[in-house]
Amino acid sequence: MKYYSLNKKAPNVSFKDAVIKGLAPDKGLYFPETISPLIDNFIKSIHNYTDQEIGYEVIKQFIGNEIPKAALKQIITETLSFDFPLVDIENNIKTLELFHGPTMAFKDVGARFMARCLGYLNVDSKKKVTVLVATSGDTGGAVANGFLGVKNVEVIILYPSKKVSNVQEKQLTTLGKNIKALEVDGTFDDCQTMVKKAFLDPSITDQMQLTSANSINVARWLPQMFYFFLAYKQLKDKDSKLVFSVPSGNYGNICAGMMAKKLGLPIHGFIAATNANDIVPKFLQTGDYQPKPSVQTISNAMDVGDPSNFIRILEIYGNDFEILKNDLHSYSFTDDETRKAMLHMYEKFKYISDPHGAVGYLGCKLYQKENQDANCVFLETAHPVKFLDVVEPVIEKSIDFPPQIQSVIHKTKEATFISTYLELKSFLLDK
Ligand SMILES: *Cc1c(COP(=O)(O)O)cnc(C)c1O
Repeated sequence: MKYYSLNKKAPNVSFKDAVIKGLAPDKGLYFPETISPLIDNFIKSIHNYTDQEIGYEVIKQFIGNEIPKAALKQIITETLSFDFPLVDIENNIKTLELFHGPTMAFKDVGARFMARCLGYLNVDSKKKVTVLVATSGDTGGAVANGFLGVKNVEVIILYPSKKVSNVQEKQLTTLGKNIKALEVDGTFDDCQTMVKKAFLDPSITDQMQLTSANSINVARWLPQMFYFFLAYKQLKDKDSKLVFSVPSGNYGNICAGMMAKKLGLPIHGFIAATNANDIVPKFLQTGDYQPKPSVQTISNAMDVGDPSNFIRILEIYGNDFEILKNDLHSYSFTDDETRKAMLHMYEKFKYISDPHGAVGYLGCKLYQKENQDANCVFLETAHPVKFLDVVEPVIEKSIDFPPQIQSVIHKTKEATFISTYLELKSFLLDK
């Protein structure tokens, strides 16, 4: 399969090059040249397939012959090594829990798939690949865990000192092996600026093969289609009007759902649910896309002022605003509404959700005011334990640490403290 740059000023590349490069030389996101629907019979008989078989059917056209069948199946098996349960909340509202992986956020799926693809594709190369990534929390943990022990790949994570939660810091700094953490004296934006500078610095890139692992990478984006199919497999009423409500920040997750629909999954529509960062809801009202600086909220994984995958959504819908508006609804909710939704779900249904999931739930409720017959599934994108400081005071109950968290919380942090770009550079070149 070939991929083209959405800026249309760079050559088309193979899956391998799209994964290793991340972003095209013209700074465009890569997009597959063709998208072929799956045969009807596969979708009608989806309950007869294992999760791994479903993953293979869904992804194979996007890889082509670049990874042989057996190796690709192995990668998928290792990616989908945990459950994706569809849980009833109330009449016509369910949640798809995406937090049963090793770092308890949906980013585990994309990170594990990308890590294994990169490991496979780079196996014959003499050159190590270095993944350089800046994180504000969830991405770093998922990438660290996903790449742990992958041959020929090393990972360097920059995170802002004292600005990630205790749980998140432990997930980044206690793994060892091929994972190194740099604790940066600064903000997330400072980390990101340093990473971007390194990618453009020939004195570094002449010496080493650098790549990024954020959601613009096709190998992180496309495997997120898997769990839309896995949700459908578990759905009892397959003829109902299925709508997904996706808590959205960079819009990678929802954009994968739209690809699943392109492949033929019978999804009636999508709700992009978000916090005060309301660029997409505003766009759908006015037709005008106006990025702006992000504002801080309690659902901070969605504090994004210029969602990077939005351009892929436009491409999927042929840049046709009217067609897009038929499929996509988008709402913004305040922190206060989000807290009330968390409390409501806890008191009424004994369900503890994280703030991002709560925003997704609110999306279902608002949509159903006008569409009573919609069967709405909201994505629960992280386990509430990852947002303890927000969740516990709202529900007035303490949350037990699941085994994945218990296993890291008492380990000793290992990180190198840096303050300047020069320190990053000498860290990279000294190794
Ligand atoms: C990353 C993240 C999101 C946003 O996902 P996008 O694909 O960027 O829209 C939502 N919730 C949680 C918990 C996340 O970590």
